[in-house]
Amino acid sequence: MSIHVPFNALRPGEDTAAVKAAIDRVIASGWFVLGPEVEAFESEFAAASQAAHAVGVGTGTDAITLILRALDIGPGDEVITPPLSAAYSALAVMMAGARPVFADIDPERLTLDPRATEAAITSRTRAILPVHLYGQAADLRAFEAIASRHNLALVEDAAQAQLATSDGRAVGTIGIAGATSFYPTKNLGALGDGGAVITGDAQLAARVKRLRNGGQTSRYHHQEAGANSRLDELQAAILRARLPCLAGWTARRRRIAASYRQVPVPASISVPREFDPGHVYHLFPVLTPHRDAFQAHCAGQGVETLIHYPVPIPRQPALATTNPAMCPAADRVCSEVVSLPMYPALSDDQVAAVARAVASFQPPSR
Ligand SMILES: *Cc1c(COP(=O)(O)O)cnc(C)c1O
Repeated sequence: MSIHVPFNALRPGEDTAAVKAAIDRVIASGWFVLGPEVEAFESEFAAASQAAHAVGVGTGTDAITLILRALDIGPGDEVITPPLSAAYSALAVMMAGARPVFADIDPERLTLDPRATEAAITSRTRAILPVHLYGQAADLRAFEAIASRHNLALVEDAAQAQLATSDGRAVGTIGIAGATSFYPTKNLGALGDGGAVITGDAQLAARVKRLRNGGQTSRYHHQEAGANSRLDELQAAILRARLPCLAGWTARRRRIAASYRQVPVPASISVPREFDPGHVYHLFPVLTPHRDAFQAHCAGQGVETLIHYPVPIPRQPALATTNPAMCPAADRVCSEVVSLPMYPALSDDQVAAVARAVASFQPPSR
């Protein structure tokens, strides 16, 4: 008996009624941009994130860009960021007018390597932008020390790490600010685009609020050349309906990860180790030098897989000539990494099917 395991399932489930009620409420209100839903979501999301302030913006990419702009980081400045991430981490730096500088990843934790980061610092470096990749915090203690030693801003890309903790501390609250995304596939997703900045710094939050809305200080008075990047009322209301489910969904992700970790994996597959129990498993990557064969084997058993990410960001044509980088660890991971299905709606039978597919893989003989 074969069973189908899609890579993701984005249709609302247990939260359907609440999401529909939220949509109806916004339609009835006749208020669609920067209103009571966004304001309420900002305070609810700040509380859930253990942050003093949250500011809703258009996308996670914009959240990063607006944090940098609010810190007056722009043309002539460098921001150190990992080569293994969604390319948007680095594109956001470029959108702020600054230059992304890539330091290699730690080959085990798969996040930005602190030693490589310190080696990449120049007189132009203004910030470090670690990414909490796949739901696990980067080595924040090391980055806090480096940032304070070199007087740099620590900005956290927490798009894949909602509710994650690092040594018990909430991610996004450890640096000066954190950026998150509500792209539909994220642990807390909207039914469209959305993002947020979280920070403990009231002045920074106020500056991001101004920047997201054209730089206006009051209606039609533009103090600075801001962006147009607002979380809309519909998405904010939908996110408010879903936020109460997030802790339960996170617990389910961790249980699925625990099941995957019990699979007796063949020698040709390695499973990255969990460095922190605050890992929220946005994705569950494994590594194998026989990736094509492994993906075909999984597909044959009805299990969809995807690659996060196939190309190191500095090897992308958009950056390869302007931002070349040596990153052998990221090169190797990009050639071997493959993600198993990981989302709260997976049934126990589907989890078991994924486990069977992994356990039964035999690399092609040569
Ligand atoms: C999704 C994501 C982003 C970009 O978020 P958008 O809302 O799609 O702009 C940035 N960084 C990481 C690590 C992401 O996963």
